[in-house]
Amino acid sequence: MLVTELIRRKRDGAELQRAEIEFLVNGYTRDSIPDYQVSAWLMAVLLRGMTRAELAALTESMLNSGEVLGFPELPAPKVDKHSTGGVGDKTSLIIAPIVAAGGLFVPMISGRGLGHTGGTLDKLESIPGFNVNLSVADFRRVLAQCGAGLIGQTAEIAPADKKLYALRDVTGTVESPYLICASIMSKKLAEGIDALVLDVKTGSGAFMKSEKDAVFLAELMVETGQRLGKRVSALITDMDQPLGRAVGNALEVAECIEVLEGRGPADLRELSLVLSAWMFLLGKRVNTIEEGRELAEKMIVSGKAREKFREMIRLQSGNAHVIDNPALLPQAAYRAEVKSTASGFVTAMMCEQFGTACVLLGGGRAKKEDSVDPAVGLMVHKKVGDRVTAGEALCTVYYNSSERLAAALPLIEQGYTIGTVALLHSRPLVHRIIGDTDGGLARSV
Ligand code: URA
Repeated sequence: MLVTELIRRKRDGAELQRAEIEFLVNGYTRDSIPDYQVSAWLMAVLLRGMTRAELAALTESMLNSGEVLGFPELPAPKVDKHSTGGVGDKTSLIIAPIVAAGGLFVPMISGRGLGHTGGTLDKLESIPGFNVNLSVADFRRVLAQCGAGLIGQTAEIAPADKKLYALRDVTGTVESPYLICASIMSKKLAEGIDALVLDVKTGSGAFMKSEKDAVFLAELMVETGQRLGKRVSALITDMDQPLGRAVGNALEVAECIEVLEGRGPADLRELSLVLSAWMFLLGKRVNTIEEGRELAEKMIVSGKAREKFREMIRLQSGNAHVIDNPALLPQAAYRAEVKSTASGFVTAMMCEQFGTACVLLGGGRAKKEDSVDPAVGLMVHKKVGDRVTAGEALCTVYYNSSERLAAALPLIEQGYTIGTVALLHSRPLVHRIIGDTDGGLARSV
């Protein structure tokens, strides 16, 4: 097969056959097709879309590019959660310990920062020593021992996504519902899970800005998961402003520890409880969402989730003392405050700009080979609906380079809209739910 021919056919809107898609995925995974040709094909997919048959072929060839795990030896259901990506979107680090402490297994394969969004792996690696590159044998051992393991795509599991994900990050080819669906579902289906909760973001900081596009993506993923025999629910959740207050790897880990201690921002705590409740429900640990939420709250109040996080960090070679002393996390050398120039109310935040500002500070990648500065980022003091007075701090920027600060500052300053009239309604945290619903499941449990 000629790669140039496949690129041209996709560019012109033709449907590729399963064998052709397998050829592209396998060739790229084994390094026989170069980045530049796959970049062109990805861009053609982004612009032209895919048929359902093409999407199934892409997801399955990415899934089968590595090992598909199974954990028949584990004595309870295996569940996971995956987000389509957001700004300050750190719930995985809170949810995995809550759900493992509550008695289910969480074999989580995550990604790095993508575009303007943060990635679970980059956040975890800000914990000194934390190893996200476990072998399959070590992943099994950690999972069996503490109930949760968090790793990245490897040469053994979902290697096609490892390469395609990194390439999409730097070629402007992230925002395709088909590519996002194949990326997420290939990793998740390789994990040997029974059930999956999808957190599909919508708003100015999401890849799917409109609710209509988010629903389309959610339906693609639910359909793909259910076709392959999994219980799947997708929650369409708000990403019109950063989640919580911290944006940036180490800052976000510290905020997760606060939530596990029963403190932390209300929106982050609430979304973590809701997503955990859905995991408990789909994992058949409880019969209703209300019971799931109660169990999640209990795991926080009792301190069990916090201790589970400590155990996870220790088993993956990280410095577990960060739990008691978050100052052991990497710290930026400098801070700068962004102050409001007007009095009034925050009426909007251009959420993507806050994510891009963090990338420009060094908290994400502009090129594949870039390393990430774990210490830099933002603490957002004012969010949508908050009252501000002129001269008051809207946000603190943590930085290590004044050139990078100069690039990031305008995005933050212009990212806030201050109006004179308070908003009458705030956007809900959860917009809607697609897939296996509470009622449907409650009947089938
Ligand atoms: N998360 C993923 O794993 N892949 C995407 O493409 C987007 C978000």
